[in-house]
Amino acid sequence: MTALNTAALNTAIGGPTLRQERRLVTEVPGPGSVELAARRAAALPAGLVSGNPIYAAAAGGGVLLDVDGNSFIDLGSGIAVTTVGNAADAVVARAAEQLARFTHTCFLATPYEPYLAVAETLNRITPGDHEKRTALFNTGAEAVENAVKYARAATGRPAVVVFDHSFHGRTMLAMTMTSKTQPYKHGFGPFAPEVYRAPMAYPYRWPSGPQHCAAEAMQQFAQLIDSQIGADQVACVVVEPIQGEGGFIVPAPGFLTSVAEFCRERGILLVADEVQSGIARTGTWFASEHDGLVPDLIVSAKGLAGGLPLAAVTGRAEVMDAAPTGGIGGTYSGNPVACAAALGVFEEIETHNLLERARAIGDLMVRELRDIASATGVIGEIRGRGAMVAAELVVPGGRAPNRDAAVAVGHHCRNNGVLTLSAGTHGNVLRFLPPLSISDYLLIDGFGVLRDAFATL
Ligand SMILES: *Cc1c(COP(=O)(O)O)cnc(C)c1O
Repeated sequence: MTALNTAALNTAIGGPTLRQERRLVTEVPGPGSVELAARRAAALPAGLVSGNPIYAAAAGGGVLLDVDGNSFIDLGSGIAVTTVGNAADAVVARAAEQLARFTHTCFLATPYEPYLAVAETLNRITPGDHEKRTALFNTGAEAVENAVKYARAATGRPAVVVFDHSFHGRTMLAMTMTSKTQPYKHGFGPFAPEVYRAPMAYPYRWPSGPQHCAAEAMQQFAQLIDSQIGADQVACVVVEPIQGEGGFIVPAPGFLTSVAEFCRERGILLVADEVQSGIARTGTWFASEHDGLVPDLIVSAKGLAGGLPLAAVTGRAEVMDAAPTGGIGGTYSGNPVACAAALGVFEEIETHNLLERARAIGDLMVRELRDIASATGVIGEIRGRGAMVAAELVVPGGRAPNRDAAVAVGHHCRNNGVLTLSAGTHGNVLRFLPPLSISDYLLIDGFGVLRDAFATL
């Protein structure tokens, strides 16, 4: 049986009642987590890994409590999912009410109102004031695949263009669209056809320097489409306005708007994969807004339903209406409990002014990171938008990716009560995605631990 620390659990019912503090009462991992790890080894495949060796018991506000009663500062939000906080009040209340009413009918069989309310809200808050429609799915990968299906149906063209360092999910087409081979693709081929890859305008690592990045990346992108694929073969270009798993790469200024203009001129649909960057994370509803980008289709998922599985494709009505009747859907897609949770997320963002809070959290994190960077040679670049901020670690004196430092810093943080995430094609980026319900006090305490972690390198 699990060694749950019941004393810790008693203070941990529902997010907001959790004591908001960093507190270690055992070593990390504690005996309860170690016991669960043994059961895991006997029951789960070896390759199914977790970044942290602790087992969760409760979470809310800015902390995650483990089964041993240790309280960790959460700087990852379960990978940008619990943006409004874990078990946030409005999410719990609305989901619980829906859960007691009915759990499933299958929207394809018998529809229900919360699905419509989520679609109406997404149609309103996504960029652009054109006529829009929204379809709901379960996961980011599933929604990305469906965005491609809509684009192909609307254009009658086969090809999909994606970028270096992109991540779009783990299903067959989404995995093909994902850039990084280890661990996402290696050994899992053959891959889906008609997926082409262009360089990303990644200023920090652009060979001829950041000042040439946007123009040269654009030139290579245009050449790929016009002279290698043929523009009339391309259904869509799929891009993350800020690349998530790729290491919070913010494309060089002007690149995304040039891509959008190029696509418009050639009847190619622009799909923004905002699975990680969307839903208030960057201080706007969608990261596309920072570049004045109005995508034809926009994919949201992670932050959408506070942790319940829900994803969406929102797009131009004429594109979305082009898919054949009955061609799109899924048994669980737009589950009513997940829809109710999403309405709770929208309520939390609006009532607590979380767009503004995301910007304030971002400013604080960048300030702390700059301060840390001034005392270490391993932070090559600090970048991001709003509460989506990363530090790219390098070998001092150059730009060689420093994955070892990222791993060491992550371990030090975790062993001292702070949960962080890494990212990047070379695993050398530390990314910070705290829940927007976190207090300044916890953030500053968490970055203090980070400072110590860099000092011990
Ligand atoms: C996480 C992610 C996905 C995949 O979402 P899943 O829900 O894991 O399938 C797709 N695109 C981006 C940008 C992501 O960050």
